[in-house]
Amino acid sequence: LIRFDHVTKRFGTNTVLDSLDFTVSSGKHVTLIGPSGSGKTTILRLLMTLLKPDEGTIRVGGEYLTHEKKGERLVPAGEKHTREVRKNIGMVFQQFNLFPNMKVLRNVTEAPVHVLGMPKEAAEERAHELLDLVGLTEHVDKYPSQLSGGQQQRVAIARALAMRPQVLLLDEVTSALDPELVAGVLDVLRDIAHTTDITMLCVTHEMNFARDISDDVLMFDSGRVIESGPPEKIFTEPEHERTREFLSAVL
Ligand code: ATP
Repeated sequence: LIRFDHVTKRFGTNTVLDSLDFTVSSGKHVTLIGPSGSGKTTILRLLMTLLKPDEGTIRVGGEYLTHEKKGERLVPAGEKHTREVRKNIGMVFQQFNLFPNMKVLRNVTEAPVHVLGMPKEAAEERAHELLDLVGLTEHVDKYPSQLSGGQQQRVAIARALAMRPQVLLLDEVTSALDPELVAGVLDVLRDIAHTTDITMLCVTHEMNFARDISDDVLMFDSGRVIESGPPEKIFTEPEHERTREFLSAVL
Protein backbone atom coordinates (compact mmCIF):
# COMPACT_ATOMS: atom_id res chain seq x y z
CA LEU A 1 0.00 0.00 0.00
CA ILE A 2 2.90 2.36 0.71
CA ARG A 3 6.10 2.14 -1.22
CA PHE A 4 9.23 4.27 -1.01
CA ASP A 5 11.77 3.76 -3.81
CA HIS A 6 15.21 5.36 -3.47
CA VAL A 7 13.80 8.34 -1.59
CA THR A 8 16.36 10.97 -0.70
CA LYS A 9 15.54 14.07 1.30
CA ARG A 10 18.07 16.75 2.14
CA PHE A 11 17.85 19.91 4.18
CA GLY A 12 20.75 21.98 2.88
CA THR A 13 23.79 19.75 3.23
CA ASN A 14 22.07 17.46 5.73
CA THR A 15 20.94 14.25 4.00
CA VAL A 16 18.09 13.14 6.21
CA LEU A 17 16.85 10.24 4.09
CA ASP A 18 19.41 8.48 1.98
CA SER A 19 17.99 6.51 -0.95
CA LEU A 20 15.42 4.93 1.31
CA ASP A 21 13.41 1.89 0.22
CA PHE A 22 10.60 0.39 2.23
CA THR A 23 7.07 -0.89 1.82
CA VAL A 24 4.04 -1.24 4.05
CA SER A 25 1.48 -3.82 2.96
CA SER A 26 -2.23 -3.24 3.20
CA GLY A 27 -3.66 -3.76 6.69
CA LYS A 28 -0.26 -3.95 8.38
CA HIS A 29 0.86 -1.92 11.36
CA VAL A 30 4.41 -0.73 10.99
CA THR A 31 6.37 1.22 13.57
CA LEU A 32 9.43 3.35 12.92
CA ILE A 33 11.94 3.52 15.74
CA GLY A 34 15.37 5.05 15.96
CA PRO A 35 17.37 7.88 17.47
CA SER A 36 16.18 11.45 17.44
CA GLY A 37 16.96 13.10 14.12
CA SER A 38 17.15 9.83 12.18
CA GLY A 39 14.43 10.96 9.75
CA LYS A 40 11.28 9.23 11.07
CA THR A 41 9.04 12.28 11.14
CA THR A 42 10.36 13.33 7.74
CA ILE A 43 8.91 10.12 6.29
CA LEU A 44 5.44 10.94 7.59
CA ARG A 45 5.73 14.54 6.39
CA LEU A 46 6.67 13.30 2.91
CA LEU A 47 3.58 11.08 2.89
CA MET A 48 1.40 14.04 3.85
CA THR A 49 3.14 16.04 1.08
CA LEU A 50 4.18 18.64 3.64
CA LEU A 51 7.62 18.00 2.14
CA LYS A 52 8.75 16.82 -1.29
CA PRO A 53 11.45 14.22 -1.92
CA ASP A 54 14.61 15.43 -3.66
CA GLU A 55 14.98 12.08 -5.37
CA GLY A 56 13.00 8.89 -5.65
CA THR A 57 9.30 8.09 -5.70
CA ILE A 58 6.58 7.39 -3.17
CA ARG A 59 3.51 5.35 -4.05
CA VAL A 60 0.29 4.99 -2.10
CA GLY A 61 -2.19 2.35 -3.24
CA GLY A 62 -0.20 1.92 -6.46
CA GLU A 63 -0.43 5.63 -7.36
CA TYR A 64 2.55 7.93 -7.40
CA LEU A 65 2.17 10.65 -4.80
CA THR A 66 4.26 13.48 -6.23
CA HIS A 67 4.57 12.20 -9.79
CA GLU A 68 2.19 11.38 -12.62
CA LYS A 69 2.62 9.02 -15.54
CA LYS A 70 2.67 10.72 -18.93
CA GLY A 71 2.90 7.78 -21.30
CA GLU A 72 5.96 5.91 -20.08
CA ARG A 73 7.49 8.96 -18.40
CA LEU A 74 7.13 10.13 -14.82
CA VAL A 75 6.59 13.86 -14.46
CA PRO A 76 5.99 15.99 -11.37
CA ALA A 77 2.35 15.67 -10.38
CA GLY A 78 -0.19 18.47 -10.44
CA GLU A 79 -1.91 19.59 -7.22
CA LYS A 80 -5.12 17.78 -8.13
CA HIS A 81 -3.44 14.40 -8.61
CA THR A 82 -1.50 14.70 -5.36
CA ARG A 83 -4.63 15.74 -3.46
CA GLU A 84 -6.52 12.69 -4.77
CA VAL A 85 -3.77 10.27 -3.71
CA ARG A 86 -3.37 11.99 -0.33
CA LYS A 87 -7.07 11.52 0.41
CA ASN A 88 -6.17 7.93 1.32
CA ILE A 89 -3.97 9.10 4.17
CA GLY A 90 -4.95 10.41 7.60
CA MET A 91 -2.51 11.78 10.12
CA VAL A 92 -2.50 12.44 13.84
CA PHE A 93 0.18 14.86 14.99
CA GLN A 94 2.05 15.30 18.23
CA GLN A 95 0.24 18.62 18.77
CA PHE A 96 -3.39 17.78 18.15
CA ASN A 97 -4.01 20.66 15.69
CA LEU A 98 -7.78 20.75 16.29
CA PHE A 99 -9.84 23.69 15.04
CA PRO A 100 -10.10 25.73 18.28
CA ASN A 101 -13.21 27.64 17.21
CA MET A 102 -15.26 24.53 16.42
CA LYS A 103 -16.95 22.16 18.81
CA VAL A 104 -15.79 18.54 18.96
CA LEU A 105 -18.52 17.23 16.64
CA ARG A 106 -17.78 19.84 13.99
CA ASN A 107 -14.05 19.17 14.22
CA VAL A 108 -14.87 15.62 13.12
CA THR A 109 -17.47 16.46 10.43
CA GLU A 110 -15.73 19.44 8.83
CA ALA A 111 -13.46 17.62 6.37
CA PRO A 112 -15.92 14.86 5.36
CA VAL A 113 -18.52 17.55 4.54
CA HIS A 114 -16.23 20.09 2.88
CA VAL A 115 -13.59 17.88 1.30
CA LEU A 116 -15.49 14.67 0.53
CA GLY A 117 -18.86 16.36 -0.01
CA MET A 118 -20.60 14.05 2.48
CA PRO A 119 -24.14 15.13 3.51
CA LYS A 120 -24.07 16.77 6.95
CA GLU A 121 -26.40 14.22 8.57
CA ALA A 122 -24.35 11.25 7.37
CA ALA A 123 -21.14 12.95 8.52
CA GLU A 124 -22.64 13.59 11.96
CA GLU A 125 -23.84 10.02 12.29
CA ARG A 126 -20.36 8.75 11.47
CA ALA A 127 -18.78 11.33 13.80
CA HIS A 128 -20.96 10.11 16.68
CA GLU A 129 -19.86 6.51 16.02
CA LEU A 130 -16.20 7.52 15.96
CA LEU A 131 -16.47 9.71 19.06
CA ASP A 132 -18.08 6.76 20.78
CA LEU A 133 -15.18 4.56 19.66
CA VAL A 134 -12.68 6.97 21.22
CA GLY A 135 -14.78 7.33 24.38
CA LEU A 136 -15.92 10.94 23.97
CA THR A 137 -19.68 10.63 23.58
CA GLU A 138 -20.28 13.05 26.45
CA HIS A 139 -18.03 15.73 25.04
CA VAL A 140 -19.37 16.28 21.52
CA ASP A 141 -20.66 19.78 22.33
CA LYS A 142 -17.49 21.09 23.93
CA TYR A 143 -14.73 23.19 22.45
CA PRO A 144 -11.20 21.71 22.32
CA SER A 145 -10.04 24.12 25.05
CA GLN A 146 -12.55 22.53 27.45
CA LEU A 147 -10.91 19.10 27.07
CA SER A 148 -7.77 17.51 28.49
CA GLY A 149 -4.82 16.88 26.18
CA GLY A 150 -5.65 13.18 26.06
CA GLN A 151 -9.26 13.90 25.12
CA GLN A 152 -8.13 16.36 22.45
CA GLN A 153 -5.83 13.76 20.99
CA ARG A 154 -8.71 11.28 20.89
CA VAL A 155 -10.77 13.85 18.95
CA ALA A 156 -7.84 14.17 16.53
CA ILE A 157 -7.89 10.38 16.05
CA ALA A 158 -11.66 10.41 15.39
CA ARG A 159 -11.19 13.31 12.99
CA ALA A 160 -8.51 11.46 11.02
CA LEU A 161 -10.66 8.31 10.81
CA ALA A 162 -13.71 10.29 9.66
CA MET A 163 -12.07 10.68 6.24
CA ARG A 164 -12.03 6.86 5.94
CA PRO A 165 -8.34 6.81 5.05
CA GLN A 166 -6.66 3.57 4.06
CA VAL A 167 -3.60 4.59 6.01
CA LEU A 168 -3.31 6.24 9.41
CA LEU A 169 -0.03 8.00 10.20
CA LEU A 170 0.73 8.54 13.86
CA ASP A 171 3.54 10.89 14.76
CA GLU A 172 4.56 10.56 18.41
CA VAL A 173 0.92 11.10 19.32
CA THR A 174 1.48 10.80 23.06
CA SER A 175 4.66 12.79 23.49
CA ALA A 176 2.90 16.09 24.25
CA LEU A 177 0.64 14.50 26.87
CA ASP A 178 0.87 14.43 30.64
CA PRO A 179 2.00 10.94 31.65
CA GLU A 180 -1.35 9.98 33.22
CA LEU A 181 -3.16 10.67 29.92
CA VAL A 182 -0.92 8.54 27.72
CA ALA A 183 -2.51 5.16 28.50
CA GLY A 184 -6.02 6.25 27.46
CA VAL A 185 -4.85 7.38 24.05
CA LEU A 186 -2.75 4.25 23.49
CA ASP A 187 -5.70 2.05 24.51
CA VAL A 188 -7.86 3.72 21.86
CA LEU A 189 -5.17 3.15 19.23
CA ARG A 190 -4.68 -0.47 20.29
CA ASP A 191 -8.41 -0.95 19.91
CA ILE A 192 -8.37 0.55 16.41
CA ALA A 193 -5.34 -1.53 15.44
CA HIS A 194 -6.97 -4.74 16.64
CA THR A 195 -10.53 -4.16 15.41
CA THR A 196 -10.19 -2.39 12.05
CA ASP A 197 -8.33 -3.23 8.87
CA ILE A 198 -6.67 0.18 8.63
CA THR A 199 -2.99 0.29 7.73
CA MET A 200 -0.91 2.12 10.33
CA LEU A 201 2.49 3.74 10.14
CA CYS A 202 3.61 4.99 13.54
CA VAL A 203 6.53 6.90 14.91
CA THR A 204 6.64 6.34 18.64
CA HIS A 205 8.91 6.28 21.65
CA GLU A 206 6.41 4.02 23.46
CA MET A 207 8.14 0.72 23.01
CA ASN A 208 5.48 -1.37 24.76
CA PHE A 209 2.85 0.07 22.47
CA ALA A 210 5.06 -0.62 19.45
CA ARG A 211 5.49 -4.19 20.62
CA ASP A 212 1.72 -4.65 21.09
CA ILE A 213 0.43 -3.32 17.81
CA SER A 214 3.20 -3.77 15.25
CA ASP A 215 3.44 -6.42 12.61
CA ASP A 216 6.81 -4.98 11.68
CA VAL A 217 9.28 -2.63 13.32
CA LEU A 218 11.77 -0.66 11.23
CA MET A 219 14.88 0.58 12.97
CA PHE A 220 16.25 3.78 11.45
CA ASP A 221 19.66 5.25 11.68
CA SER A 222 21.08 8.09 9.59
CA GLY A 223 18.28 8.04 7.05
CA ARG A 224 18.32 4.33 6.35
CA VAL A 225 16.52 1.26 7.65
CA ILE A 226 19.29 -0.69 9.32
CA GLU A 227 17.14 -3.53 10.63
CA SER A 228 13.52 -4.62 10.38
CA GLY A 229 11.34 -7.49 11.49
CA PRO A 230 8.52 -8.53 13.79
CA PRO A 231 8.62 -6.89 17.23
CA GLU A 232 9.50 -10.15 19.01
CA LYS A 233 12.69 -10.28 17.02
CA ILE A 234 13.68 -6.60 17.06
CA PHE A 235 13.03 -6.15 20.76
CA THR A 236 14.46 -9.42 22.01
CA GLU A 237 17.16 -10.45 19.54
CA PRO A 238 18.26 -7.38 17.58
CA GLU A 239 21.06 -8.16 15.18
CA HIS A 240 22.52 -4.73 14.68
CA GLU A 241 24.78 -3.12 17.28
CA ARG A 242 23.05 0.28 16.76
CA THR A 243 19.65 -1.30 17.46
CA ARG A 244 20.97 -2.87 20.67
CA GLU A 245 22.41 0.46 21.81
CA PHE A 246 19.21 2.32 20.97
CA LEU A 247 16.98 -0.19 22.76
CA SER A 248 19.15 -0.33 25.84
CA ALA A 249 18.88 3.45 26.07
CA VAL A 250 15.08 3.57 25.75
CA LEU A 251 13.82 0.34 27.34
P1 ATP B 1 12.67 12.82 16.54
O1 ATP B 1 12.55 11.44 17.09
O2 ATP B 1 13.52 13.72 17.39
O3 ATP B 1 11.36 13.45 16.16
P2 ATP B 1 13.11 12.10 13.78
O4 ATP B 1 13.79 10.81 13.56
O5 ATP B 1 11.64 12.15 13.59
O6 ATP B 1 13.52 12.68 15.20
P3 ATP B 1 13.16 14.16 11.80
O7 ATP B 1 12.23 15.07 12.51
O8 ATP B 1 12.66 13.43 10.61
O9 ATP B 1 13.82 13.13 12.82
O10 ATP B 1 14.42 15.05 11.42
C1 ATP B 1 15.56 14.52 10.77
C2 ATP B 1 16.60 15.60 10.57
O11 ATP B 1 16.11 16.58 9.66
C3 ATP B 1 17.00 16.35 11.82
O12 ATP B 1 18.39 16.52 11.76
C4 ATP B 1 16.30 17.68 11.69
O13 ATP B 1 17.04 18.70 12.30
C5 ATP B 1 16.24 17.88 10.19
N1 ATP B 1 15.04 18.65 9.75
C6 ATP B 1 13.76 18.25 9.88
N2 ATP B 1 12.91 19.17 9.36
C7 ATP B 1 13.70 20.19 8.89
C8 ATP B 1 13.43 21.42 8.21
N3 ATP B 1 12.18 21.78 7.92
N4 ATP B 1 14.49 22.19 7.89
C9 ATP B 1 15.75 21.81 8.16
N5 ATP B 1 16.07 20.65 8.79
C10 ATP B 1 15.07 19.84 9.15
